[in-house]
Amino acid sequence: MTDVAAHLEELRERGLYRRLRLIEGPQGPRVTLDGRDVLLLCSNDYLGLAADPRVREAAAEAALRFGAGSGASRLISGNMAPHRELESALAAFKGYRRALLFGSGYLANMGTIAALAGPGEVVFSDELNHASIIDGCRLARAEAVVFRHNDVDHLAALLRDSPGRPALIVTDGVFSMDGDVAPLPELLELARRHGARLMVDEAHATGAVGPGGRGTVSAAGLSGEVDVVMGTMGKALGAYGAYVCASPETIDYLVNRARPFIFSTAPPPPVVGAARAALGVLEAEPERVGRLATNARALRDALAAEGFATGDSTTQIVPIEIGEAERTMELCEQTLERGVFVQGIRPPTVPEGSSRLRFTVMATHSPGELRRAAQEVGEAARAIGLLKAPTIAA
Ligand SMILES: *Cc1c(COP(=O)(O)O)cnc(C)c1O
Repeated sequence: MTDVAAHLEELRERGLYRRLRLIEGPQGPRVTLDGRDVLLLCSNDYLGLAADPRVREAAAEAALRFGAGSGASRLISGNMAPHRELESALAAFKGYRRALLFGSGYLANMGTIAALAGPGEVVFSDELNHASIIDGCRLARAEAVVFRHNDVDHLAALLRDSPGRPALIVTDGVFSMDGDVAPLPELLELARRHGARLMVDEAHATGAVGPGGRGTVSAAGLSGEVDVVMGTMGKALGAYGAYVCASPETIDYLVNRARPFIFSTAPPPPVVGAARAALGVLEAEPERVGRLATNARALRDALAAEGFATGDSTTQIVPIEIGEAERTMELCEQTLERGVFVQGIRPPTVPEGSSRLRFTVMATHSPGELRRAAQEVGEAARAIGLLKAPTIAA
């Protein structure tokens, strides 16, 4: 039997103990955190849509028209007009013929990977893929083969080593802890050459990256080409839930085979209504995506000016790697003391020794707020000896 107390103690000793913080009120560039007004730099509500009046009203309206819950799974009696409408809109937005809703991104990855790769088959997975992809590989009971991060040569060698076996290649589009982008054209080329399928997770790309926020697949000109594109509505779309875009045949297959789709209650109408409205706002106001990119660049530049390296990030996810978990949390707390909330990220979310502060930018941050955030984290880092004080010319 698991010794719960001993495990908690061990987590504390290793600096890996986690606790919940409380946000009052809706998401936004500033929030009240555990009773204090702070600048928020770790929300995935990238476009400010979670609190948008049109999105909130759509949720309320869907609740009034269709009820608070969907009552059953989609295949029993839970399939309702809002589900169909959102699926059509998402498919059109992403340039696919069909889309299928899932309860969450976690469930979409679990269900889709397990449905598309069975025993005797191989899933090739980038080493920095999201935990839900890793868990999908586990559920699949397929052989999981991990390739080095964004290393297409490594993947090519691994594919050559397992000829003739059905394979699924899976990657994040935008990597959730690093903010860099997968080499999609090369990955698709490899998939085609080896008769494998390619699946891309656009959780952090949908609404944030690519033309009008259509994601990394669209940015690479590969809409309709990549076999399976998964995305979520809980991040830039400000709601909750997820979807998978694919061919009509693949979607039919998922309806019949994806266990989290089959054995789970359909997403509730207010959530679906909110996501549909958010997609409408995104399509009507694509300039939000441009503002997000501008803000992301401004934060990266401001952090660089403080002396921080931000890795290979080219997106709204901007990490500064610290290394040790305890030091990372010390910096997180010191920064919070200065009124800036950016959560420290530790193993197992990131590899051992690569703990970091992970900033996420919003389109609704002002340039001044981003400058201030970088300055405060710089001062906090100097206060605890993580950055040297700037040398003053004599
Ligand atoms: C957040 C995230 C998920 C999970 O999506 P949820 O809807 O939050 O369950 C999946 N993949 C990636 C890359 C993510 O960042």
